Amino acid sequence: MPPAVSRTSALPDFAVETRALSKTYRARGRQPAKVALDSVSLAIPRGSFFGLLGPNGAGKSTLINILAGLVVKSSGQARVWGFDTVGQERAARAAIGVVPQELNLDPFFTPRELLEVQAGLYGVPPSERRTDVILEAVGLADKAHAYARTLSGGMRRRLLVAKAMVHNPPVLVLDEPTAGVDIQLRQQLWTYVKALNAAGTTILLTTHYLEEAEELCDRIAIIDRGRVVADEDKHTLLGRLDSKAVTIVIDRDLTAVPEALAPFAPELKDRRRLSFRFKPSRVKAGAILSAVEAAGLGIVDLSTAEADLEDIFLRLTGQGGVAPTARAD
Ligand code: ADP
Repeated sequence: MPPAVSRTSALPDFAVETRALSKTYRARGRQPAKVALDSVSLAIPRGSFFGLLGPNGAGKSTLINILAGLVVKSSGQARVWGFDTVGQERAARAAIGVVPQELNLDPFFTPRELLEVQAGLYGVPPSERRTDVILEAVGLADKAHAYARTLSGGMRRRLLVAKAMVHNPPVLVLDEPTAGVDIQLRQQLWTYVKALNAAGTTILLTTHYLEEAEELCDRIAIIDRGRVVADEDKHTLLGRLDSKAVTIVIDRDLTAVPEALAPFAPELKDRRRLSFRFKPSRVKAGAILSAVEAAGLGIVDLSTAEADLEDIFLRLTGQGGVAPTARAD
């Protein structure tokens, strides 16, 4: 098994780098060959919290599995922490920890045993093991000796994060880590992962929860049908749609949009609420407010909304984010 990776010597600029990475799964029986990745070039800056988004079947798992050394690429290049996944696979695998989607755990191991076995597999000497520290960090210290089968779904998920961290990899991949995890445990998991990121670990996250990516990630790539359709700083990506909405609560009842406001094409949500969609690059919100007042309406309250990741995702892929209950995978 691979040795632990030095985090200090010759730090790479990019924790993960792929160049024209392609993968075609061979035809099998009646199943035709399938292009899962088509010339994917991504550079994940060291230290970033990177979101990899895409609809089901986009190629996210294939990409992660190539990085983890579990799937063989067809062409192109993939590097983890500067190490080629082909030719330097031992070092590349030592640099990455993957938290898988499935909650696969040996039911008869305790969390403590599981982490010790995993550390052994990665050749971490007993003196360098941080089993108790990791269990504490993921909130499982009091379950250290409980059988895995007695753990709740949320605890198992956190145990899988712990398992991916035993060799202290500089890159942590979380593949749909919060699907089916309740809100409170989700928050706990994120608190831990954010702390890891703040301490220098590069995080690569795939998620169907677009709000989660919007909140956590500093850079986001979207892949669709094996191709990268966006790869940008989050704020740049969110700014792309150039769309905002302002909803104004007025001080009297309306039955129709006043003539003077027609150029702004507002929608009358109910008798006292007018909603305006506008392009911030062309129209200032202040101009809308002035027009409302000039039309003789008093403003009681207002709220604004920006385009969110859901809108952008929808536009780039033609599909909305998949709610957890509707997951098809
Ligand atoms: P995602 O993780 O984004 O849902 P995947 O990487 O799992 O996407 O899949 C990408 C495409 O490759 C899909 O069309 C999927 O059906 C296909 N695929 C994935 N794994 C295999 C495999 N082992 N054999 C053949 N086709 C596969």
